[in-house]
Amino acid sequence: MAPRAESKDPLNAFALGAHAAPLQKFALPPRARESLLHYGMHVDITRYIEALRTRALARGVKRIEAEIAGVLLNGEGAVAEITLAGAPAAEADLFLDCTGAEARVLSAMGAAFEDWDAVSPCAFVGYGRNAPGAEIAPFTTIAARDDGWMQTIPLQSGDAWAIFSESPNIDGAETIHPFRSGVRDTMWRGNCVGVGDAAGVVEPLHGLGLHMAHRGVLRLLSLLPQPGGEASAGAEYNRLMRNEFASARDAACAHYALAQRTDTEFWRARAAAPYSAALARKITQFKRRGRIPLEDEDVLQESDWAAIFSAHGLWPERSDLSTADADPAAIRAGLERMKAGLAGMAASMPSHRAFIQDSLNPAG
Ligand SMILES: Cc1cc2nc3c(=O)[nH]c(=O)nc-3n(C[C@H](O)[C@H](O)[C@H](O)COP(=O)(O)OP(=O)(O)OC[C@H]3O[C@@H](n4cnc5c(N)ncnc54)[C@H](O)[C@@H]3O)c2cc1C
Repeated sequence: MAPRAESKDPLNAFALGAHAAPLQKFALPPRARESLLHYGMHVDITRYIEALRTRALARGVKRIEAEIAGVLLNGEGAVAEITLAGAPAAEADLFLDCTGAEARVLSAMGAAFEDWDAVSPCAFVGYGRNAPGAEIAPFTTIAARDDGWMQTIPLQSGDAWAIFSESPNIDGAETIHPFRSGVRDTMWRGNCVGVGDAAGVVEPLHGLGLHMAHRGVLRLLSLLPQPGGEASAGAEYNRLMRNEFASARDAACAHYALAQRTDTEFWRARAAAPYSAALARKITQFKRRGRIPLEDEDVLQESDWAAIFSAHGLWPERSDLSTADADPAAIRAGLERMKAGLAGMAASMPSHRAFIQDSLNPAG
């Protein structure tokens, strides 16, 4: 067995973001050292939609706002036209279905929804908002509840929260909706391509919904068919996106599988729930020797998986043989320097609120 450079520190001790978060601090990493801090955005979904719309219209996109009244198919099962309430019917060579989880166009074409409820048990989601506080936390909080979990997303206008639950009884929610995880069996069908939730929905335990919408757009651009159509592009889109959604699902499943909470029926069922062979491989390899075998279409990086595993208390039993010749004392000293350096960088960052204010008013 290879010697281990034993450290009592959790992995967080070596992540700049984890040093900054409890101090309510944030700054963009220096350009030359971007790998030091991988950050995401907390977006107010309504304002994000407005911003994207304004940008698209400025670039010449024509917008018709109308309810889809019907989907007319041709003899080959492709979309001939989409009829709109109060507007002329829409004809096109290629249609994108971006109508969310209901996938109005794809489902009219016969694309079935493959349910992932067995691994993703929350059938309801309730939304609420908190009044703005003095600080804007620089991180999303995910907290387990007896029958599900709660996500709190800090925004300038106050925290937005969502509770995912097995049951529709969600105290304090302003609105409550049914929720289903799963994918369309075909996401690109004939001349229609599903993007975003129309292609698939994953419980946002790891917050990957918007990322998956972006992945869909990028995949579509890389496979954009030539005039006349190209059936292989659709098959490839379906293969790639299905694998990517499966990887996003596995990220959510990992949180359930490793939660180690057994005090309620919900969590006991989660501990016993099945998960994919790909996730099982990752868990086993990480546990045995700290390796993380990535899939070709993995939506997370090695460091993301390591963060999930270690945060849930999973830690390698032994180090990889490739580190056998390393000197544990030198590694320990290097880790101590790294930890102190990261703590110093975090302490010198501005508060998250100050960072946001400076970004909004760069001159003042
Ligand atoms: C509570 C909650 C928390 C989440 N948290 C995160 C997170 O932290 N990070 C993350 O990345 N993702 C998160 N997600 C997922 C993310 O919000 C979704 O993946 C994303 O909004 C999907 O965008 P979309 O455009 O595909 O679908 P939608 O946002 O559902 O948009 C669909 C659009 O289609 C329109 N439409 C529907 N039917 C018709 C019709 N018949 N005619 C005309 N128009 C129609 C609707 O009006 C709507 O404008 C979360 C989701 C939920 C529910």
